[in-house]
Amino acid sequence: MPSNKSVSEAPITQLINCRILREHQIQREDLWVREGKILDPEKLFFDERAYADERVDCGGAILAPGFIDVQINGEDRWHLSVRRRRTDAFPAGGFGVDFSRPSDDVGAGVSLVARKLLEHGVTSFCPTLVTSPPHVYHEILPQIKIQDGGPHSAGVLGVHLEGPFISAEKKGAHPERFLRGFSERGAAADLGEVYGALDNVALVTLAPELEGGTAAVGELCRRGVTVSLGHSVANLSQAEDAVCCGASFITHLFNAMLPFHHRDPGIVGLLTSERIPPGRTVYYGMIADGIHTNPAALRIAHRAHPAGLVLVTDAIAAMGLPPGRHTLGQQEVEICGLQVFVAGTRTLSGSVASMDMCVRHFRQATGCSVEAALEAASLHPAQLLGISQRKGTLDFGADADFVLLDDDLNVKATFISGQEVWKKSPKEQQK
Ligand code: ZN
Repeated sequence: MPSNKSVSEAPITQLINCRILREHQIQREDLWVREGKILDPEKLFFDERAYADERVDCGGAILAPGFIDVQINGEDRWHLSVRRRRTDAFPAGGFGVDFSRPSDDVGAGVSLVARKLLEHGVTSFCPTLVTSPPHVYHEILPQIKIQDGGPHSAGVLGVHLEGPFISAEKKGAHPERFLRGFSERGAAADLGEVYGALDNVALVTLAPELEGGTAAVGELCRRGVTVSLGHSVANLSQAEDAVCCGASFITHLFNAMLPFHHRDPGIVGLLTSERIPPGRTVYYGMIADGIHTNPAALRIAHRAHPAGLVLVTDAIAAMGLPPGRHTLGQQEVEICGLQVFVAGTRTLSGSVASMDMCVRHFRQATGCSVEAALEAASLHPAQLLGISQRKGTLDFGADADFVLLDDDLNVKATFISGQEVWKKSPKEQQK
């Protein structure tokens, strides 16, 4: 007979003097951590008669699950070199690697972004590739491995592929010459030819109204990839068909889709659709940077369907870099203040926002609770990706990835697997 599982000898950490977000409520409670997981203290006392080896005083901070960004484009390699030369000129943000540009050090680029994200409370993310030619996917995808976060980096949950199976009419900043439709050979063949292996892919954004689009939704879902609708001119019934085939996300709601019309609300209508299969939730990404979506539109979406709201940054390489021209994927973009345009146009292209900034703006714009703002950046994206057993929550047994925040939701420190991986310097704390 196997004996009872032996009790772990690993040290136990107790985080005290904090207000933790658990079960949709901020409550005064301690957080117990061992071997990178959150412990149930009752079991610890009564079954193991064990106590904390170490106590960490959180100074009254809010302790929330680490943020998860399912749409971030990174920064380009050229800027990486700029940044290296002028490190002190660009404080937080802007990291300088564009995940969509092939290079021999994509892994290094992802690592750099993964490290900088810790400053913004992001503990895991989906590096996002904009529409690219097939050889770029074949070259880059094998290099962006799914991996846990650690002392120097947020975890990689898998790549988000935005395009190339999107609508030319709603291409936004995606280069038209690389857009694709599905062929008669079937979705499996097309996906294989364009992307290659999908092992490292978590999320694909496509336009469901393309010929063969719903079949592609089904094929991707069967292969464990979350499907998002976006850069699309789908009407509501096409969008509902895609959801019935397994699609579960909407990419940057309101942006790059048909505007809401009362006789055909388009993809936006999914927020209140009655054709969502029972037990399913449609999630939707919102770039709450104060530029991509008017606060009134943000409020409409949030009030209609609060449980589906997922904050995304859609941040590009240039985040934190100075105004002027920069490169995103295969395209030139231009930064003016907080706005990023395809160079020479007024087409918005990604953002230069950070996740903590979006959380604060979202809360302020909607007047939602602190809990709701924090869950939109943690619990909801985890639920979307089907990983809420271990991420986006502080439930017992979950990964101890969390952030400490002040009452204005500024990030004070970031933890991964129970280890502090970033802390605001005392000088910045006083600001
Ligand atoms: Zn987009």
